[in-house]
Amino acid sequence: MNIALIAHDEMKNTMIGFCIGYEAILKKYGLYATGTTGKKIMDATDLNINRLASGPLGGDQQIGSLIVSQEIDLVIFLRDALTAQAHEPDIQALIRLCDVYHVPVATNLASAEIFVKALDRGELSWREVRKTTSQRV
Ligand code: PGA
Repeated sequence: MNIALIAHDEMKNTMIGFCIGYEAILKKYGLYATGTTGKKIMDATDLNINRLASGPLGGDQQIGSLIVSQEIDLVIFLRDALTAQAHEPDIQALIRLCDVYHVPVATNLASAEIFVKALDRGELSWREVRKTTSQRV
């Protein structure tokens, strides 16, 4: 199971705190992140992150592509809800793909904590079944 981690600039400290707090769970999974988010998480923790491009330079679209190929099982996307983003179309496209492919997506800390605890309890293991099934189709 793989998790994608993205945080807008105003939310990066929140993401780092989240990753420190849940490092013991997160380290059990494959981790992907947009460029700057991934670097900051790796600087603050012992987590190994597959870093993609920075969000405004196409990183959100790269994560979207991984969702299409069924490689992402959970998205933690801590958005800055108070600041306009130059790459807003990419953000909307990423969230849309989460809906198309039934990928749980948390856009704030409260839902991120619930999802990561659910993942650790095995409550997202239906994703494995779904992936196996869709590979057969
Ligand atoms: P970043 O991208 O992790 O490279 O800052 C996140 C974003 O702003 O979408």
